[in-house]
Amino acid sequence: MNRRLLIAVSLLVALSACTSATVPHGTLYQVSLASALVERDYEGETTLGELLRHGDFGLGTVDRLDGELIVLKGTAYKARSDGSVVEVPPDETTPFAVITRFRTDSQISIDQPMGIRDLERLIDRTVDNPNLFYALRIDARIPAVTVRSVPAQSPPFRNLVEVVAEQRTWTREDVSGTIVGFRSPPYVGTMNVPGYHWHFLSDDRSQGGHVLSATLDRGAVDIDPLRTWIVVLPSDRAFGKLDLAKDHRDELEVVEKSGTE
Ligand code: ZN
Repeated sequence: MNRRLLIAVSLLVALSACTSATVPHGTLYQVSLASALVERDYEGETTLGELLRHGDFGLGTVDRLDGELIVLKGTAYKARSDGSVVEVPPDETTPFAVITRFRTDSQISIDQPMGIRDLERLIDRTVDNPNLFYALRIDARIPAVTVRSVPAQSPPFRNLVEVVAEQRTWTREDVSGTIVGFRSPPYVGTMNVPGYHWHFLSDDRSQGGHVLSATLDRGAVDIDPLRTWIVVLPSDRAFGKLDLAKDHRDELEVVEKSGTE
């Protein structure tokens, strides 16, 4: 390759790196809507490879609800209903996910045993602006955590409330791991999940799921406020046919909190 061509190619590479630049720190990048999931829109469009360009820390679900999605340190895992945890290949898709590029802004230490609901109240009192999103990373000793996952679905899709009625739950004792979470402001309604949403992943990457309850001991919660909210809506025809004017609050509450203590 001659020198001029080499420079041109290098410029092109640099340029494409710019145009495909990831979103800045402090951004919540969201795929689709929680209400679309409630309306049975379980088929993913955005690949995990694409999602991971926008962050390294997140949660959600994967195509046809085949596991609870956990993104930690830039790697995506799914906790499946058979209890296994596997890495999600980059070409697998997600019908709903949130991700951010996590950077610790402040920290709360956990010095005594407490339930996750107590911790939520403590975070409520600590955050200065309840109308922002917060990414929350709990690294602690975990005396007990109860998680759930749901079985993969195939068409014709059943209602999400019916799917969650068949959720599998597990209680893990004395595990060390990370709980990946977000606190979303109440005005998100059913676009996202208002309040707290937590997914667990053990340090050995063998256990995980959507957290229903947990007790925590000795550790910390790292907090990162997010002021930019990007929502990427599906482009497929199925999305256009969903009834998103309907009020999905009650269903979403059942779906997210079913089995919560
Ligand atoms: Zn979840």
